[in-house]
Amino acid sequence: MTVQVEVQTFPLFINGEWQQAKSGETFEVFNPATGNVVARVARAGEEDVELAIKAARDAFDKTDWKNMKPKERAKVLNAIGHGIAEHAEELVYLETISSGGTVRRVSSNDVLQMVDLFNTMAKFVKEYPFSETLPSPPFPGPAHNFIWREPIGVCAAITPWNMPMLIATWKIAPALAMGNTGVIKPASFTPLTTLKLAEIISKFVPPGVINVVTGPGAEVGEALVRHPKVDKVAFTGSTEVGRSIMALAAGTIKNTTLELGGKSPNIILEDADLDIAVPGSLFGVFLHSGQLCESGTRLFVPDKLHDEIVDRLVSLTKTLKPGNPLDLATDVGPVISKKQKESILAYIEDAKRDGATLVCGGNEITVEGCENGHFIEPTIFTNVTNDMKIAREEIFGPVLSVIRYSNIDEAIEMANDTIYGLAAGVWTRDVNKAYDAARKLQAGVVWINDWHMLRNDAPFGGYKQSGIGREMGRHSLDAYTQLKHVHTSMVPEAHRKTWYQLLFSNTNQS
Ligand code: NDP
Repeated sequence: MTVQVEVQTFPLFINGEWQQAKSGETFEVFNPATGNVVARVARAGEEDVELAIKAARDAFDKTDWKNMKPKERAKVLNAIGHGIAEHAEELVYLETISSGGTVRRVSSNDVLQMVDLFNTMAKFVKEYPFSETLPSPPFPGPAHNFIWREPIGVCAAITPWNMPMLIATWKIAPALAMGNTGVIKPASFTPLTTLKLAEIISKFVPPGVINVVTGPGAEVGEALVRHPKVDKVAFTGSTEVGRSIMALAAGTIKNTTLELGGKSPNIILEDADLDIAVPGSLFGVFLHSGQLCESGTRLFVPDKLHDEIVDRLVSLTKTLKPGNPLDLATDVGPVISKKQKESILAYIEDAKRDGATLVCGGNEITVEGCENGHFIEPTIFTNVTNDMKIAREEIFGPVLSVIRYSNIDEAIEMANDTIYGLAAGVWTRDVNKAYDAARKLQAGVVWINDWHMLRNDAPFGGYKQSGIGREMGRHSLDAYTQLKHVHTSMVPEAHRKTWYQLLFSNTNQS
């Protein structure tokens, strides 16, 4: 299907309004499936970042946004969810033509998850313990003590290109739920849906509560991370950039959450039902052409079943249909860019050089009607060892490494032998074996007989170098609050405050 795309120009979204960048500069956004320009977007500079931060700062410091009652805030969150649903068609279209995610996935998963996330946060916010009363202390004396949970302030979100609008909401929804304000810097490949989201959200919140600045990460992103008036930064992307953000945030001791890369292990046990484990493992690695941080890229298979599993993996992979992501029949869309395609192809060459055996795919493909797109065949390597580059580094493309094991302890040891710890999975009919493996696997989420099962009411984030902190779930609300202890003395006379004697030797000081 060929769609004629009108090239629209998107300004920045600051203080509830569309604003051109001060420099007047723009950059182009491309459709990774066709190579066509689909939009022009304002290229923000330091001055624009200042304006966005000021808008967010003023909305936090000078409006009642942060003091809104939980019930009222829940209504706002529900209204945003409704607003997203009303604009679903446009969001899905913009997301598909800029990120290359298939319309089947974006429309039937991402947009629904976003609506549900705001509704879930609305529910959580009504139950959230904003104020907790502590028991009266026996020592040092009668007092009322509270713990208050308060918003952090201005939160910067720096987001990636793989599932741009969904991942943006993982940061925006809890931030707004807790009364923060935000400035979002979307990936330069995919800023369109974040800009659109800001426009939708702005209908329900005071001006300045949500702002979007677009432009290069090394300028716009770093300016946000460095800025003393930004109180928190939440980032999703590469471990390398995550490291530099963490170092930069240290300059202002900024609260930081990071959701980074993965090299997730997926273990098929000998008793697994291969009719589920084989399609499930392919779903785990080839969804969105492997460009998902939690993809199950290392598949551990028992010696005994190795050949049968590989045969089944290869024959099922060959049924996957590459194509234009706007086509509902497409199974596998493009990767995000020429650079990403070349990086993936280089990993494939490295794997061959390192002695892995290519059993499926391995090449770029030309898709009819999308001749300038960036497509790669779903690729499977066998004879991979856990120390090879393809088994150690995040490829972020449709490449599966099959690694043999002889016993489960060996599989778990190899599974955990990585700097990452985002996701893991195990396929078995034996619940005891499943939970035993789940306990031993060092990962923020473990799927048993499934993959990619992220839930809006469950935390998501990494062990080890896959990140710090959790998104989604009620735990994500904690990441957007800070704790205040409030002590009210019930002892009205100084001479009865015996602890003052710690300073005054004259106990009759009053
Ligand atoms: P990056 O980590 O570079 O980009 C993620 C976000 O960070 C983008 O918004 C980017 O902006 C911004 N950014 C880039 N440099 C800086 C900086 N110095 N300071 C602040 N923000 C910055 O990912 P890439 O696009 O380069 O992809 C490279 C690899 O990262 C992939 O191959 C994959 O391995 C991994 N990745 C992981 C993701 C995940 O979900 N964990 C998602 C995306 C990528 P801009 O787009 O303008 O450069």
